[in-house]
Amino acid sequence: MSKTLVSIALWALGGWLLGAWLGAATGWAFFALGLLLMILVSGLQLSRIARWVRAIDEPPPPSVGPWDEILAPIYRKLKQNRLDLQDRTRSFHRALLAAEALPDGALTLDPHKALQWCNQTAASHLGLDLERDRGHSILNIVRAPEFARYAGQETWDRPLILHLGHGGAARTLSLHLAPYGVGQFLMVTRDITQIERLENTRKDFVANVSHELRTPLTVLSGFVETLQDLPGDALTGEQRRHYLDLMAQQTRNMQALVSDLLTLSSLESTPNQEGGPVPVAALVRTALAQAQALSGGRHTFDARLDETLRIRGQDTELASAIGNLLTNAVRYTPPGGSITVLWEPAPDGGAACRVRDTGIGIDPADIPRLTERFFRADRGRSRATGGTGLGLAIAKHVVMRHDATLDIRSTPGEGSVFSILFPAARVCPPAGPAAPARDAAGRHRSSSCMVQCGYCFPYCRLAARAR
Ligand code: ADP
Repeated sequence: MSKTLVSIALWALGGWLLGAWLGAATGWAFFALGLLLMILVSGLQLSRIARWVRAIDEPPPPSVGPWDEILAPIYRKLKQNRLDLQDRTRSFHRALLAAEALPDGALTLDPHKALQWCNQTAASHLGLDLERDRGHSILNIVRAPEFARYAGQETWDRPLILHLGHGGAARTLSLHLAPYGVGQFLMVTRDITQIERLENTRKDFVANVSHELRTPLTVLSGFVETLQDLPGDALTGEQRRHYLDLMAQQTRNMQALVSDLLTLSSLESTPNQEGGPVPVAALVRTALAQAQALSGGRHTFDARLDETLRIRGQDTELASAIGNLLTNAVRYTPPGGSITVLWEPAPDGGAACRVRDTGIGIDPADIPRLTERFFRADRGRSRATGGTGLGLAIAKHVVMRHDATLDIRSTPGEGSVFSILFPAARVCPPAGPAAPARDAAGRHRSSSCMVQCGYCFPYCRLAARAR
């Protein structure tokens, strides 16, 4: 402003001096010319300012006369606002990314419970498409009467457990609403299908174990009461022995059950380690001797074992799995039947342990369920032979811990073949002398590891080079 006044004053002074010298008309003309020039310059400056306003992110035009003083602070303020906005946008994106990274689903609803925003997890839980569903009431999206009732509540102390879908697509979600801000709502969604399944499995397991223990306990307590109530001479020696035999049988059943439960629990609680080379043929021979003892000469046995074939694994676990298959073969094969066990290389470079019997066989419909805990295809025979219903569950567990598969083939009335198929990666190349001992770090201590047993081979080669 002051610049403009000074310019007008200078033009006026010039006009006055010129008027005094050349006459008043010339002085006024000079002054008018000056004002006209000032208006023209000002117009030019305004048009440059107008151009800048259209591209306001650019710095303002330089030298726009008196406008310089006005434009500079405006531009500084604009620049500051732009930086603030960038900062806030970055914070907003960080918050969005954090919300996306949440393991749970999250969605926000407006006061009318219409969808405003949701993360990917919530979208997949509830089948939402933000583009399509934004602004739509969540009650029209999640169409379940129990959800409508839940959303209609005033407060939400607990989450709602919602079962969605059927069959293989069935899912259980936990939905929790919470108010926030002014009349807005946050909903957290969590997929608890797996947790619920595990909880049901745990409940079934406890119920099964209780049921399995109740039968022998009832029999035992019945006999104990009978023996307590009867006068000493009421039973003959033979009857007393018979009762005691039956009690001993029930006790053995309970012991077998507890022992199998402990085996399962230890399999579940110990970490899966690869283990050292296992001479499976030796394990099979031991299990075979036990099976023959169980058979008591009622079956014929045949074994074809590759003595050089070894795999990396845990010998106690493998012994338990193979032992279970062999005792099952004895228990489910009527007297006179034959049982064959094979330990041989497989065509794919792996190894197979097969237990074949000519027993009662299994209904094809039951085969997929055989490895479930407490599943028994032939309940009567299982109980009569002291079965716990856990043998194949244990075998399956061991097999999985060795990256192997349990293949079951059976024809009712003709017999069954249970095969443990180990992958090639588990097979040790033919071994030389005894497998070397290993140190605490899992490396072989002995220089005899140069035998290239497959397990120690890479380390031995390195050690050999270092020597
Ligand atoms: P169990 O202790 O009852 O034998 P398992 O888990 O070992 O429990 O076996 C589950 C069921 O599989 C058995 O109850 C039996 O019905 C069936 N089964 C297992 N092995 C054989 C076999 N070799 N022949 C026929 N049926 C078998």
